[in-house]
Amino acid sequence: MKRVLITGAAGFLGSHLCDRFIKEGFHVIGMDNLITGDLKNIEHLFALENFDFYHHDVSKFIHVPGELDYILHFASPASPIDYLKIPIQTLKVGSLGIHNCLGLAMSKGARLIIASTSEVYGDPQVHPQKEEYWGHVNPVGPRGVYDEAKRFQEAMTMAYHTYHGLETRIVRIFNTYGPRMRLNDGRVLPAFIGQALRGEDLTVFGDGSQTRSFCYVDDLVEGIYRLLMSDHADPVNVGNPDEITIGEFAEEIIKLTGTDQKVIYKDLPKDDPTQRQPDITKAREILDWEPKVSRSEGLKITYEYFKSLPEEELYKKEHKDFKDYARQNK
Ligand code: UDP
Repeated sequence: MKRVLITGAAGFLGSHLCDRFIKEGFHVIGMDNLITGDLKNIEHLFALENFDFYHHDVSKFIHVPGELDYILHFASPASPIDYLKIPIQTLKVGSLGIHNCLGLAMSKGARLIIASTSEVYGDPQVHPQKEEYWGHVNPVGPRGVYDEAKRFQEAMTMAYHTYHGLETRIVRIFNTYGPRMRLNDGRVLPAFIGQALRGEDLTVFGDGSQTRSFCYVDDLVEGIYRLLMSDHADPVNVGNPDEITIGEFAEEIIKLTGTDQKVIYKDLPKDDPTQRQPDITKAREILDWEPKVSRSEGLKITYEYFKSLPEEELYKKEHKDFKDYARQNK
């Protein structure tokens, strides 16, 4: 049985990846420090013989007994609100965390894939974004801690590939949504659906003309699986090119939820990208992959998930005590 380590296993993407690798017959070792992840996302796996979980912060030395065939480094805060609250930890998991994962991959002879992001393109001046575009990033702005950690992570991974001959893969993930997103993580989809469910107005930042392109999680997981199994070491965009303005997206959520609330406008956060759309030519050619789930289908499933959560989840302001965590892990 092949063995895979998934860091960030209790998070939104990590937990879906655990499910997928279990389904493919792997022995899955999940690792998470549970600061933004939640054990609820993987509790259904604990009874399985081919699933283990380590409560560990990957910014510290990682020890995993036994063999490993693959490592997926998916641990990281991933919403603008989270990385404003825990900026140092965001930098550490992308730098010290990847260094530890790469060292582990070397010692086990494992292939490693990292979760990179469309944020490496910053506020892009090229549209849609191709892998060859180097980006337009403000290193000292509020998003800098995430963007630069992910850029460093790509550089470090590529250096291990080039200088040590390690088998590595880099997936650049665009906005993704689906069940198990955190309702209170500040990202636009849980924010809008949470507001609709609580009977609040939907908060559009800026004039709503900025664009995003949303990919359903099952499509993303399929793309990641194919990339990991491919022989392609250069970065590959995985996302859904179906682009929409945030203003139109708010209207779609109002329709979907049937809420009679309206849209209100708030200040646009600093360095908020004005446009984002993946060019997925590479993924189509190399992985024979493209998204299959339309936004209307994906949103329906996601809305059902959020509706099924206990009501108190809707009113939880913060997932965890970030302040205590940040104090202990400076
Ligand atoms: N946004 C918004 N209202 C909210 C939350 C987010 O209008 O309540 C906007 C945000 O300014 C950005 C877009 O929605 O332009 C996507 O934000 P998100 O935080 O989901 O991800 P990003 O792509 O910016 O990392």
